[in-house]
Amino acid sequence: MTSGSCAPLVEIFASIQGDGWRSVYRGAALFVKRMSLRFLSLILCAIGSVVAQDESVASPVACRYCKSEGERVCKKHGRFLESDRAVLQCSVAAACRTCAGALAVDCKICKNEVVERTAAERREQARIWLAGRRKAVDAIAKNSDLLHVKTAHLDLAFSIRPQLVGRRKLDTHQLMHLYADRIEALRSDFILSFKLRKDELPARLQVYMFGDRRDHRLVSPRVAGGGGGGSGMKLMGVDAVYCMYQEPLTMSGDEALHRNIVHSVAHLLISNLRPEVWLGNLGHGWIDAGVAHWFEDRITGGCSNYCYEEVGAKKGSYKGGHWRVPVRRAIESGKHESFVVVSKLNTDQLTWPQHALAFAYVDFLVASFSGRAFADFVSAIKRGDAVRDALVATFEMKILEFDDVFTAWVKKNYPLEGR
Ligand SMILES: [Zn+2]
Ligand SMILES: [Zn+2]
Ligand SMILES: [Zn+2]
Ligand SMILES: [Zn+2]
Repeated sequence: MTSGSCAPLVEIFASIQGDGWRSVYRGAALFVKRMSLRFLSLILCAIGSVVAQDESVASPVACRYCKSEGERVCKKHGRFLESDRAVLQCSVAAACRTCAGALAVDCKICKNEVVERTAAERREQARIWLAGRRKAVDAIAKNSDLLHVKTAHLDLAFSIRPQLVGRRKLDTHQLMHLYADRIEALRSDFILSFKLRKDELPARLQVYMFGDRRDHRLVSPRVAGGGGGGSGMKLMGVDAVYCMYQEPLTMSGDEALHRNIVHSVAHLLISNLRPEVWLGNLGHGWIDAGVAHWFEDRITGGCSNYCYEEVGAKKGSYKGGHWRVPVRRAIESGKHESFVVVSKLNTDQLTWPQHALAFAYVDFLVASFSGRAFADFVSAIKRGDAVRDALVATFEMKILEFDDVFTAWVKKNYPLEGR
């Protein structure tokens, strides 16, 4: 305010010095104009303070304890604050003895009825949400130690054991928020990569990440329509469900777990892309698996996952998970299979080299055309168009030309050595 009130006078003096007496008149006029504006703003300020005084009836004294906000943030939930807008509900916060899911503690010194009413509503919503999750998941797993989080597009049940993420050891609650964040980030990246509209991924993602096989075996048949035998089970298409446990041999740490989640949730997303259909058993396994590998590579820098359905591929990883070089070499040697053959197989019929080709087909189409064009192509296939027709309609490419254009692109873009 102080510097603001000085500004008009400084400007007026500057204009007087600029061009003599004529400017005095202009300067004086400007002074009067500025002063009348200032007078008007003083009146407005006065009105404002009257209103403020009126509002302060609820809390007449400025409260230093809560900065007159009526509440303070509850600090009982660790470093990943539920007050972050992305987190809508968290079971740890909902069960908090201090705030019971309100995420804030009422200020005992001052009174603010609006704030208190809102906090009571938040507590009630958290209570109802947690009771629903306990009934739908914990009761089936017969495990009351499960954690839950709800974010904008995800419901996540979680019991992964504490582990290192980089050099930092995170507890189960912290890991849950990290994974919720990673899954939301993957969904955002999926939308961005394919330039999707908001309504093209209609389902909420339902993900279950367990530390114990027992929980997975009990919950998977109820939420993912079967399984429980392998380490992960998916329900894809209209529903977008992934239920898994951290199998210690193939997913020994955070990096492998993260890859598994990216790969599997990418399967859910491409299947949920409108119209919602899982293509993996309709002779389009290369789209189903190719997209999952493409995101796995894009986000975690390599591919090491095959899915429960992908039994055609033997266990273990293929070429260390870095597939550009083996694809380039296969093409140089002329031993790669043709698109016409690979593009007819189901996901569970693909061998590892065909998985690598599926990844490269997606990479090629997205890079040579666009993510949006690729999504349109996938939607056309889901509507029942033949691959040969959709290729012409979307990319102006005949199916018999595919291999020539693809191999030329690989020779230009994939290395012969390294990664
Ligand atoms: Zn207060
Ligand atoms: Zn939390
Ligand atoms: Zn709390
Ligand atoms: Zn897969």
